Amino acid sequence: MHWPAIQKSPASWKVPPNLLDYGDTVAAFSWDAIRAELQGLPQGRGLNIAHEAVDRHADGPLGERTAIQWLGADGNASAVSYRELKRLTNRFANVLHALGIAKADTVGVLAGRIPELYIAALGTLKHTSVFCPLFSAFGPEPIFQRLSRGDAKILVTSEALFRRKVDVLMDRLPALQNVLLVDADDHRSGRLLSLPRLMAEASEDFVIPPTSPEDIAVLHFTSGTTGMPKGALHVHGAALTHYMTGKFVMDFHADDVFWCTADPGWVTGTSYGIIAPLLHGITNIVDEVDFDAVRWCRILESEKVSVWYTAPTAIRRFMRMGIDPAQAYDLSRLRLVHSVGEPLNPEAVIWGVKALGLPIHDNWWQTETGGIMIANFPSMEIRPGSMGRPLPGIEAAIVERVGENEVRVIEAPDVQGDLALRPGWPSMFRSYLHDEARYQKCFVGGWYLTGDLARRDADGYFWFVGRADDIIKTSGHMVGPFEVESTLMAHPAVAEAGVIGKPDPLIGELVKAFVSLKPGFAPDDALRLELIGFARKRLGSAVAPKEIDFKPDLPKNKAGKIMRRLLKARELGLPEGDLSTLEESR
Ligand code: AMP
Repeated sequence: MHWPAIQKSPASWKVPPNLLDYGDTVAAFSWDAIRAELQGLPQGRGLNIAHEAVDRHADGPLGERTAIQWLGADGNASAVSYRELKRLTNRFANVLHALGIAKADTVGVLAGRIPELYIAALGTLKHTSVFCPLFSAFGPEPIFQRLSRGDAKILVTSEALFRRKVDVLMDRLPALQNVLLVDADDHRSGRLLSLPRLMAEASEDFVIPPTSPEDIAVLHFTSGTTGMPKGALHVHGAALTHYMTGKFVMDFHADDVFWCTADPGWVTGTSYGIIAPLLHGITNIVDEVDFDAVRWCRILESEKVSVWYTAPTAIRRFMRMGIDPAQAYDLSRLRLVHSVGEPLNPEAVIWGVKALGLPIHDNWWQTETGGIMIANFPSMEIRPGSMGRPLPGIEAAIVERVGENEVRVIEAPDVQGDLALRPGWPSMFRSYLHDEARYQKCFVGGWYLTGDLARRDADGYFWFVGRADDIIKTSGHMVGPFEVESTLMAHPAVAEAGVIGKPDPLIGELVKAFVSLKPGFAPDDALRLELIGFARKRLGSAVAPKEIDFKPDLPKNKAGKIMRRLLKARELGLPEGDLSTLEESR
């Protein structure tokens, strides 16, 4: 079905957008001009994200403005001003210093959306060590993979999360020097320390050390099709992309109140849930609670949110519940709604017009890109179902591989191919930690290959087609099938496991496993439940399979690799495609 474009008339703008004309802005764009809108460390000592996001506002006219408006699960709320955030992050940087943490050491944070997470993130950046967020719904195994692969020296977490998920790992993490407990009154041991006590003892003065824009700032783990999670390294200079996209996509204006619903355990929750709004000196809403339709409507109303960044799964939940927020709540302050993370179906864009009084602006990016690369801009017509057009300073193309080391750009419109970006934008990842070879493989013939399939129409709008690999997107979260398969294989009954993403109308895809059993085990419901529980305990609810099917054996190629593609085609009743590599037809 063809969905008509949504036109926008300047008469309906509450404020003129920062990007008024796409073509003019792209033509005039330079990263140097964006850099000039940031301040830089005093005396030319470089560029540090935390200085740009916190200190420069704290020390200027915005000092008393609320930087973070935190809404707690228990109904409590607290507002942290830029000045207060500077003091708190200074203290945290001093805590790291006192513990002997050095530049470029990794500081992991495993926490829900509590104020300490934000203080630790920005304090770590100030200290020039590396912030590594860990999603609090992960189970012990994904946490272990990330802490050990990331060489984490410090972990910030709560007593409850420590007890449930980290305690069992401590012997396997010799490099983890200290765990800082956000809610412990006193130190528990030499390794297990009370963060409140350390913060109270630390000075609130801190001078940010010289920071090169190329210094590593953030380590984000993301899933691959094969192997364990990959650690994408991002630098302080990424702030240019965060600032630029805050300006042109989020369209931040001085009085905006911004709410990004993503958790900082995922890249959106860090780049836009922490950094971009603070770079612009506006108020950033942080809600501790996960999706709750009524609570979210109340927050939009009571906090006077003007720019909202959310995700397709959440929007589809509203749609399914039949809730039209603008009917029952005063959303007159809401100016822009954005979405990211998975395909935003045209119906959802249209739903926004009816239920929020505003269309939803889809945008595209990924962990490796560090910031938004393709977007529907506020001043631009929306083509429902399209991710929009590339940001100024970003060159995107549809390419096809020709041989090992070359690609050909597909100039013709509406032809499906690999979505590629011209390398060199400031927030581009700089490596996969300890895996430079894998990093290099992403770059072919002068292009970064994103792993997504897409097409571009004659007017330069990009349309998402799918992933080129087996990665699963469930509720907007990326899950690598290999991680799930490895965990299932650790169960004594499992001989083989193959994991796919099964399309789901609400959460995009659900994690589904196919399992063959060792002799002597019966494929019954009791074992199915046991395996689901086994995986949940180790992987956590965000990653574990929701469905498990037993098969006498799984289709494999001649090299003995399980053919997930075929499992998926058979599950969905789709054509099985080329079976020439199949070990034996079943
Ligand atoms: P992550 O690295 O976890 O942020 O996931 C990035 C991936 O999510 C992309 O490579 C896409 O496959 C998918 N994705 C992100 N944004 C969109 C979007 N607007 N439309 C469709 N897929 C998206």
